[in-house]
Amino acid sequence: MEKKKIVLPGEFLSTEEEFAAGRNTFDSDDGNVYSKIIGSVEQDNQTKEVSVKPTVDWNGLKRGVIVLGRVELVKDSAVMVTLMLEPGNPKKQILVPGSAMIPIRNVSRDYVERLKDVFKVGDIVRARVAKIMPGPTVDLETNQPDLGVVKAFCSHCRKPLHQFGPNLKCMVCGSTESRKLARAYSTK
Ligand SMILES: [Zn+2]
Repeated sequence: MEKKKIVLPGEFLSTEEEFAAGRNTFDSDDGNVYSKIIGSVEQDNQTKEVSVKPTVDWNGLKRGVIVLGRVELVKDSAVMVTLMLEPGNPKKQILVPGSAMIPIRNVSRDYVERLKDVFKVGDIVRARVAKIMPGPTVDLETNQPDLGVVKAFCSHCRKPLHQFGPNLKCMVCGSTESRKLARAYSTK
């Protein structure tokens, strides 16, 4: 089977003369057709339409579902997360990187001043799907005791951190760190 071309939102697909805008695409004033979503390109030579099929597996992903994700980026207003079926196995991603996020207001019931103090890149988080929006993007929340970071790595030497009371400690370099921890933080 021919390998399908994967496109990003806003990526050029065709001129309107060649193919009309089909599913998950839009035509622009410049006479070109662009993708609305991340997915694979499908050109129908009969109907002369170009469409994009979502690469995201939405099976079972809905509001209230508990997911695991890896923190990719910590910004001022939100944490970008890659959702996974199995943490540590990049082949088991269920969404493309950066398409899920935890907005700062969804992090905790306590006041969070700086997201950098409660999440770090590489952390594995247990979160609940709060909202699914077109794009696709997913808003997550960790504002329950059972939600938050379940595994974290030392920001100095990348070794797994161990929990000591409310904090985390690196047994290799001695660094002490804080996170928004889930009740079931992994000690392994
Ligand atoms: Zn360390």
